[in-house]
Order: sequence, then C-alpha cells, then structure tokens
Amino acid sequence: MYNFNYIRPHDIEEASSLLANDDDAKVVSGGMSLLPSMKLRLAQPSALIDLSALDALKGIEVTANTVTIGAMTRHADVVRSKQIAGAIPAIVKLASNIGDRQVRNRGTIGGSVANSDPAACYPSSLLALRAVVTTSKRSIPADEFFKGLFETALDPTELITSIRFEIPLAADYQKFKQPASRFALVGAFVAKYRDEVRVGITGTKACAFRWHEAEDALQERFAPDALDGLYLPETDVNSDIHADAEYRVHLANVMVRRAVEQCLSCLG
Ligand SMILES: Cc1cc2nc3c(=O)[nH]c(=O)nc-3n(C[C@H](O)[C@H](O)[C@H](O)COP(=O)(O)OP(=O)(O)OC[C@H]3O[C@@H](n4cnc5c(N)ncnc54)[C@H](O)[C@@H]3O)c2cc1C
Repeated sequence: MYNFNYIRPHDIEEASSLLANDDDAKVVSGGMSLLPSMKLRLAQPSALIDLSALDALKGIEVTANTVTIGAMTRHADVVRSKQIAGAIPAIVKLASNIGDRQVRNRGTIGGSVANSDPAACYPSSLLALRAVVTTSKRSIPADEFFKGLFETALDPTELITSIRFEIPLAADYQKFKQPASRFALVGAFVAKYRDEVRVGITGTKACAFRWHEAEDALQERFAPDALDGLYLPETDVNSDIHADAEYRVHLANVMVRRAVEQCLSCLG
C-alpha cells in the first residue's frame, strides 16, 4: 500500500464536493474490489471517501411494482431481506451466491454496479429487471448505464444513491461459477413481464448486455426449447484461461434455458 487520505463524509453533498475538488479521489463502499486493486497498484487514489456514514444510501423499499435498494446495502442485507424475497426472490438468490461470506458481508450493490466488472452478477439483473440507477445527479436507465470494461455512464463526481427494479411476473438468475473466485464464468438473468421477456448476460463480454435474439425467441414462446440452436455470435466474447469463447457461448444458452425452466416452475 502507499499513503492516501481517508475521509468519512456525513452527507451526499459533502461526498460530492470532496470528489469534485480532487480528481484523483475515489469513493469506497465495501472496498472488496477497490482495495485489492490498490494493493496491486492498479488504482492509486489520492484519497478514499468512505460512504459508510451516508444513511441516505442505505435501506430497502418495496412497493406494489418496484423494489428499491440503497447503494450502500450490502449483499448480506439483500440475502436476509424478507421484503425482497417476497417481491423478487431471484435477487436474493443472486446475492446469496456472490463470492464468499466475507465478500457478502462487506460488498455493496452500489459498488458492484459502479464497478461494472465483466463477471459481476448484479449488472445482468439490472438489465433484465428494467432497473433505473439513481445517482446524486440524475436517473439512468440500466440499458444506458453499462458502457464497457469497468466503464459506466457515471461521471467521475457522480455517486450511485439507489437502484430501482420493476417487479416481474417471474425471474431467475443462473450462474456457472468460476470455481476459485465464484464470479460468473457466465451468468444469465431472465425476467418475464406481462408485455416482454428480458435476458441479461454477464461474464461473457466486456460488460453485461441484453441478449436480444433470446428475448425475441422467448417472447414468441416462453419455453427452454425456444432456444434450440440459438447461440451468441462469438465476436467480442471473452476468452481466457478459464473458458474460451466457444465454451462461454455454449454456457450462455444453457444458463438461459435453466433460468426459463425455473421461471416456468414459479409461474406454475
Ligand atoms: C473473492 C471475491 C469474490 C467475488 N465474487 C463475486 C461474485 O461472485 N459475484 C459478484 O457480482 N461480485 C463478486 N465480487 C465482487 C463483490 O461483489 C464486490 O462487492 C463488488 O465488486 C464491489 O462492491 P464494493 O461495495 O466492495 O465496492 P468498492 O470496492 O468499495 O468500490 C468499487 C468501485 O465502485 C466505486 N463505487 C463504490 N460505491 C459507489 C457509489 N455508491 N457510487 C459510485 N461509485 C461507487 C468505487 O470508487 C470503486 O471504483 C467478489 C469479490 C471478491 C473479492
């Protein structure tokens, strides 16, 4: 590690102005991604602005149609939330399979979404669940939020404050885990609404994306075999020591099928 300042502001305005006045400062939520990058010198912020005292960024609110989760809500809080389990159980399932107990006890939904790790689980759920990311400055639909590898629509002085999901008729998340880290080698989040089917994929390209061809096929017929013969083009698909592009393309089809099967069993 190296020297940096540590500041713990008490409201969003103070946090925003600290960011605006120091180009090299970074906010820290759970620190589960940022601190390892600092240890590896992949990130060298001049100051860490700790969001843990910002109560406005915490909490869960469920209405008849929406679930809103504060940015500082930890994965473990989502796992324990009976309110979320009653409205969108697939989010609880997703959170309960993130990393290990330590990661779930420290990591936050805001940090995960802001980080846009190509293998993170939450981004696929935002895309499938018609989510809106609320920030200190504006509201950003999930479809416009994830821009690339660790890249989002956020400007450097903008904080995520909460994420609002639309409650679907049924939803499921399926993840093929990278066995060491438990990140998604490939993850698929399927949400069925009255008027559309949405499919968010993670672990496969530079950032999470919607698989529109699968959505069209499932819109026509919501059944696993609607995906027979349907594969992502291998262009831009990640290939690394854990899985080549061909394998990931195969897994994406399998994960979506399994999620559809699960949704059908929930719909009864
Ligand atoms: C061993 C291990 C296994 C993991 N496995 C998984 C997994 O299976 N699935 C998965 O999805 N994730 C996994 N993760 C990542 C985990 O979910 C982290 O919690 C997440 O990536 C970052 O959340 P954080 O709160 O720790 O963010 P931090 O590390 O504090 O911050 C990450 C980045 O987001 C920025 N940021 C943080 N909060 C905000 C905010 N409110 N507004 C704007 N910018 C913000 C920070 O400046 C930083 O750039 C794993 C991590 C580890 C270490």
